[in-house]
Amino acid sequence: MARNDVDVLIAGGGFAGLTLAIALRQALGDSFTVAVADPALGRSHAEDERASAIVAAARRLFETIGVWESVAGEAQPILDMVVTDSKLGDAVRPVFLTFAGEIEPGEPFAHMIENRLLVDALEIKAKETGVEFHQTAVANFSVPSAVTSEGGHLLDDAGSSVTVELSEGQGIRARILAAADGARSRLRDAAGIAVHGWNYGQSAIVINVEHERDHGGRAEEHFLPAGPFAILPLKGHRSSIVWTETAREAERIVALPEDEFLAELEQRFKLHLGTLKVIGARRVHPLGFFVARAFIAERMALVGDAAHVIHPIAGQGLNMGLKDVAALAEVIVDAARLGLDPGSASVLERYQRWRRFDTMSMGFATDGLNRLFSNRSDVLRLVRDVGLGLVDRVPNLKRPFIREAAGLVGEVPKLLRGEIL
Ligand SMILES: Cc1cc2nc3c(=O)[nH]c(=O)nc-3n(C[C@H](O)[C@H](O)[C@H](O)COP(=O)(O)OP(=O)(O)OC[C@H]3O[C@@H](n4cnc5c(N)ncnc54)[C@H](O)[C@@H]3O)c2cc1C
Repeated sequence: MARNDVDVLIAGGGFAGLTLAIALRQALGDSFTVAVADPALGRSHAEDERASAIVAAARRLFETIGVWESVAGEAQPILDMVVTDSKLGDAVRPVFLTFAGEIEPGEPFAHMIENRLLVDALEIKAKETGVEFHQTAVANFSVPSAVTSEGGHLLDDAGSSVTVELSEGQGIRARILAAADGARSRLRDAAGIAVHGWNYGQSAIVINVEHERDHGGRAEEHFLPAGPFAILPLKGHRSSIVWTETAREAERIVALPEDEFLAELEQRFKLHLGTLKVIGARRVHPLGFFVARAFIAERMALVGDAAHVIHPIAGQGLNMGLKDVAALAEVIVDAARLGLDPGSASVLERYQRWRRFDTMSMGFATDGLNRLFSNRSDVLRLVRDVGLGLVDRVPNLKRPFIREAAGLVGEVPKLLRGEIL
């Protein structure tokens, strides 16, 4: 088995893995080696039509690592947002909450961007910064325990590295293994880290639509009894729809013939943007809330969906993953600059302390929102509408909400504040 050594090996070249790789290389330079392994590297992402809301803090990170400039022209700023709460058949949907879209003058609270554009830009930047690519999966890993002589001195460097086995048989030794291998993380399982959480019995139907009229940069979230129906503006006369239904109803709806599918869509979307046309495929994502019991193991850290999956009700999943990335990059860089072992338990524990509590709070907040809004109770509807109306009328309540949603509250890592490491 051929072996080569790197400082950090990242399993998974999605948003989280690639962003971490770039941040580390930019901060620590050529002497700090970073490799990413993922069978999907270098493959075309043209088929991926999903889009994400990138909040202000995440956009600042992408600006800081020099990726935003190559996608900014394709990103649609969210200029304002309306929230309604009604039954499916209601002819009129009263607006309960509106948000103006700026977090600071001239800085939109979020942008919508197609995932493939961002992943392509990250891959290009990672290559430019000298990240080593392995187009294969990580199959397994082990941390040999330290071997000491009678005098207590380390005989071998075992214990100070993790040995990673790639699917094609190659072995790589790293000081840290970052698992950015997504919601069904094989590495999390291999490390024996359990997840706790639950399935919602709901699925999101995700489609893109073209409409006759301009959306004016407005995002809409309609809380319908089956769950939220979000209309998120894309560049041009297009929007991305994230449409929550019970899992069974979602399967029924996506299987409908074109005209019947469009009728279901129009019932929820309404016709304020003129006639609608579905573009591309209809996709269904089962929804759940899962958090890893630990974010670290010996010489290993989980980031992104490998560490947590939340309901897309607030469009925060990826943004939370980027917060992990920014925090992990910061603790590694701080340690490496001080000449300390960046994969030591104390460094990884600093990362875990930083991220786990914040993740639980965001996870429970989105879980609570989903439970409050995805039901048919008239009493709950009255309670939440009074609450929304109150937030809407009191500016001092609204501003913290927007800053929280933009990722700018709490102990924000440097990259998310737009500062270099
Ligand atoms: C319907 C829906 C809407 C959403 N909307 C938003 C939104 O608006 N805003 C937002 O912030 N978030 C949103 N999210 C969440 C967001 O999509 C995810 O949080 C994000 O894609 C996770 O990125 P990641 O890099 O952690 O994982 P992934 O994107 O899943 O990447 C994991 C990578 O790991 C690779 N891999 C897997 N196994 C291995 C292995 N063994 N070895 C090596 N590589 C491996 C895979 O090939 C993949 O490339 C949404 C989610 C859903 C379901």
